[in-house]
Amino acid sequence: MVSDYKGKLYLKEKILEYLLALARTKKETSLESDTTKPAKNDMAHIKGLQDLVDLKISWDPLTSQIECPVTGTTNKSLCYLRSCGCVMSYAFINELSNKNSVPTFPCPLCEKPFNREYDMVVLNPLSDTHLMGVNNDSYEKLKAQHLSHSKRSLKKSKKTKSKIGSGAQESLDTKKRSSSESCASTTKKQRV
Ligand SMILES: [Zn+2]
Repeated sequence: MVSDYKGKLYLKEKILEYLLALARTKKETSLESDTTKPAKNDMAHIKGLQDLVDLKISWDPLTSQIECPVTGTTNKSLCYLRSCGCVMSYAFINELSNKNSVPTFPCPLCEKPFNREYDMVVLNPLSDTHLMGVNNDSYEKLKAQHLSHSKRSLKKSKKTKSKIGSGAQESLDTKKRSSSESCASTTKKQRV
């Protein structure tokens, strides 16, 4: 499963298909009709893997619902950390981050550092305007730092506009090969 900055969940296979189709359409229509936008407008903000984060989800074996591995809750609001993709209770991580005086501290599950100001993404806020606002605010803070949802630099992708399509395809292929270690490879890329 992957998720966008709005906290929506997507099946990874489906979104890869969507991105490949998108890259293909862009190639075909890149020079002339830039006005043909993808039909699915609710996914218009997803232009590549930089707009998605791989989630590490714990499932309740009985109900097959997503559960927080720390508190064991399934019915309360869940969130994930943008930096590592770990999914946990929003109330739990909120409480934890309020106790910390520094903005950046390790994820309670995998210990990868995250920033409480903009790395917490509420899962499926649906029509809850407050929680939707939380996600939007975080995303704005990221954009101000020229980072994508998955915290990749936005400058790179904007530099060569004509190559975006092929670039997306390349990264998709790479991602397919190493989907299991995607978290680790993302880290490497960021550090380089
Ligand atoms: Zn984590």
